[in-house]
Amino acid sequence: MSENVFYKQTHLEEKMDESEKRESRAYADSYIDFLNAGKTERECVTYAVKEAEKAGFVPYVPGMALRAGDRVYSVNRGKSMILAVIGRQDLSHGCNIAGAHIDSPRLDLKQLPFYEDGEMALLKTHYYGGIKKYQWVTIPLALHGVAVRADGSTVQISIGEDEGDPVFMITDLLPHLAADQVKKTASDLFTGENLNVFIGSTPAANGDERFKAKVLELIHERCGLCEEDFISAEICAVPAFKARYLGLDRSMIASYGHDDRSCAWAELKAIFDIRDPERTAVCILTDKEEVGSDGVTGSQSTAFEFFMQDLCETQGVSLRRCFEQSFCLSADVCNAFDPNFPEVSEKRNNAKCNYGVGILKFTGARGKSGSNDASAETVGTVRRIFAKAGVTWQMAELGKVDQGGGGTIAKFMANRNIETIDAGVPVLSMHAPCEAVAVNDCYMTYRAVKAVYEER
Ligand code: MN
Ligand code: MN
Repeated sequence: MSENVFYKQTHLEEKMDESEKRESRAYADSYIDFLNAGKTERECVTYAVKEAEKAGFVPYVPGMALRAGDRVYSVNRGKSMILAVIGRQDLSHGCNIAGAHIDSPRLDLKQLPFYEDGEMALLKTHYYGGIKKYQWVTIPLALHGVAVRADGSTVQISIGEDEGDPVFMITDLLPHLAADQVKKTASDLFTGENLNVFIGSTPAANGDERFKAKVLELIHERCGLCEEDFISAEICAVPAFKARYLGLDRSMIASYGHDDRSCAWAELKAIFDIRDPERTAVCILTDKEEVGSDGVTGSQSTAFEFFMQDLCETQGVSLRRCFEQSFCLSADVCNAFDPNFPEVSEKRNNAKCNYGVGILKFTGARGKSGSNDASAETVGTVRRIFAKAGVTWQMAELGKVDQGGGGTIAKFMANRNIETIDAGVPVLSMHAPCEAVAVNDCYMTYRAVKAVYEER
């Protein structure tokens, strides 16, 4: 009896059976492909559309007739996406929603990025999302994005991913001359205006600014773009390395962008795998989470309401009824306990790698400020759903009280009168150019989203 009074957790390696482990490894292989194909929200959407169509999803056209089991998707301006599988019950019974974001911290190019100094051509950047600036220097960078020319045509850019491609880099000071630099605090080591990316060191044959001119010539040759086109462009520098298994046991994955592509892929695989759900299943892949979820493609955009309203109108159901009956898993990563930094965590309540999907009742900062703070009933609901589906989960809290904090899209979903809770993959080195997650935690997050979709 005394054994049973304790809440116990088991390492996933000791809990999962052989067939689950095989499935988990295959899932990780597919996740690595997603990571390598999608380093920006646009690339994630492109990949998701391709995979969705393979899985039988068709573009949603407002007003189209929808029957139970139908699979539709809608892309918002190439940067965010909603997929739905129509349930047997109509939308007055609500739907099961999972929402993840597909933007990640990175270095955006400024609109006039090109300049030269010291006989080198460089790019000015403006960082996007919360980064520790010193982590982004002396690593190989790739350039990804789109530029819109004056005639309205669009050019996709990806330089630095193919084996034969060159890469780019921000330089740092040699230790021999860093006596003054190393006395600075980490936040002052690099300023935003120090994050200038090396792009070339060959002079053009003649004219002014010959180093900048040479780079512009090469860009024009490769992409057909001139300097002015970069004004109407969204190009970013992201880590050039590929996702790889981490550790001799291959228990983890090292990659750029686990936040939040680990949850985005979990949602995609889950919605691909469900058939004829009782309630309509909705998968949100949103943009702009790292900068507050504002904007037309962020999760605060009414694009979500309008999509749902369209579905509701097809069935003659009010959106209000649908939302108040719906359930949303805000699928976003949490911090994993890091043995190198135990002092920032409260061990009993911090997520650990290899213990399953982390459920966060609340996020926020200080006294839970800016948090959804799901109710006891909502936590009870996910416990029940996960137990029924054999999903291994753990409670998670973003560090010690008053250590810091963070937010997700949960509150924006909950503000729509949708019952919402955060859950996601525990991550090490979150927001660093190379983040780490456990293979089995990613797999359990997929299982968790699938369980929510299959719930009545
Ligand atoms: Mn996130
Ligand atoms: Mn983040």
